[in-house]
This record gives sequence, structure tokens and C-alpha cells, in this order.
Amino acid sequence: MISKLLWAGMLDFSTVDYPGKLCAVIFLGGCPFRCPWCHSPELATADTQTCKEKSVSEIVKQLKQNFVIDAVSITGGEPLLQPSTINLLETIKNQTTLLTKIDTTCFFPEQLEKALPFLDAISIDIKAPLNEKYSKATGRNDWELVINNLKRAHNILKNWKRSNPSFMLEVRTTIVPEINNKTEDIEQISHQIAYLNADIYTLQQFRPTKTLDKAYEAKEQISREKIVEWAKIAKTILPNTKVRLITKEKGFEYI
Ligand code: SF4
Repeated sequence: MISKLLWAGMLDFSTVDYPGKLCAVIFLGGCPFRCPWCHSPELATADTQTCKEKSVSEIVKQLKQNFVIDAVSITGGEPLLQPSTINLLETIKNQTTLLTKIDTTCFFPEQLEKALPFLDAISIDIKAPLNEKYSKATGRNDWELVINNLKRAHNILKNWKRSNPSFMLEVRTTIVPEINNKTEDIEQISHQIAYLNADIYTLQQFRPTKTLDKAYEAKEQISREKIVEWAKIAKTILPNTKVRLITKEKGFEYI
């Protein structure tokens, strides 16, 4: 069986996409969400100019020719939208010594469960408090279904992390005007993720460039000072989690 993926390219070297490791980044097409601020609209919509079919064996061959990296991070779009992503992860694990990570929305709990045995790390998105705010955040009306899926995925992750303490779990929130830019949003999210025992909680400024909804290109970024304030609040709620922020002013910082 030839296993193929809708593929949008590979970044050969990154120092910021796998904590503490030099990694390659694989970009896959397609996403079940339409976040208005999304700055990868061509990946989210699986634009045919950007996303082409590529076989798992070709991708793994390309990774094997990269002698510098320690890890690979698979991002999107939503990597778990494509069932062949599991096959890709399994093949990487069988044929290389690379550490593996995916970035995911957690919308596909069954796929997540299948992927976990082939993963060393994961970065999950929490876009807003887990309530009706997810509708505006994801561009979907069926927010109850979304939250239900996310909670199932989070429970799977909590149990996996408990039995695999070295598994690296990052939770990430992009701070976006009118979506999650209130102190109570960050407080609620922090309380809602506390039971996951994440290693890292990241708050990052959204980028008002090339957004899915063009109206977001005119919106002002939330200031670094405000995000520092919220990161400190998150740290009080998540004392055992490293809390970091990513801003255009200072790049990566830990609280
Ligand atoms: S920002 Fe939203 S729409 Fe864009 S790729 Fe991520 S989950 Fe999909």
C-alpha cells in the first residue's frame, strides 16, 4: 500500500519548534477549523497551489538525508486530519532515531490515541476558554461538538502523560484581539488545563499578517506587557508548569 499525504513542504532546520532540539518541520494541508486570525490560510484550506500529494516513503527519505536534526515536528493545518499521518509517524519511528512531535487542535481524539505510541512530544492548541467562545475562535457553529472532542482528547493525554512522564506536553494559546484577550479568559484556560500537568504553557502574540479573515490584518497585537501580566497569572495557577511567552518585541521568554 502506498500511503500518501497532502503535503505543503518541509523546513529543514528549526531551533524553535521542538523544545531544546534542532528539528525539521513538516507542513501538512487541511484543517477542520477556520480560525479567523489563522496565518496559514493556504494550509488550513488545503489550497491546491500549496498542498500536493507526497508519499510517506518520500518524506521519510528526505528526513534521512538530513544529518543535523535530532527531531521532527509535524504541523499544519491539522496533522491528525489525515489518517496517513499515523503511518508517517510510525515509519519515522521504525526507520530513524528522530524524536517526534505534532502540533494539534485535539479535534480528533481517536487519531490522537493512535498517534501517541509514536510520539515523544505534543503541542496542543487551546484557543479560548472551553465554552461557546470556541465558536468565534474556530469559525464553527457546532462548538459543543468541538469542546466534547477536545475534552476527550485532553483526557487521553492526561492518562498518557501519567503513564509516560517523559512525554513532553505543551499547551499553547495564541492571544488574539476579541477572541481571548481578557484576563478572565487566561484565568479560565489556565484552570481548565491544570489537570493535564503540562510541561510548558505558552502564550503567544497573534501575527496580523496574511490572516484567513482579512479583517484581522488590521487588528492591533496585544502588547507584550499585557501578555507578561497574563503569563504571571497563569504561573500562579500552574506552579509546576513552565510558562513562557512569545512576542515580536522579545521573542521567547520564560516567567
Ligand atoms: S490557526 Fe486554526 S484554521 Fe489555522 S491551521 Fe491552526 S487550527 Fe487550522
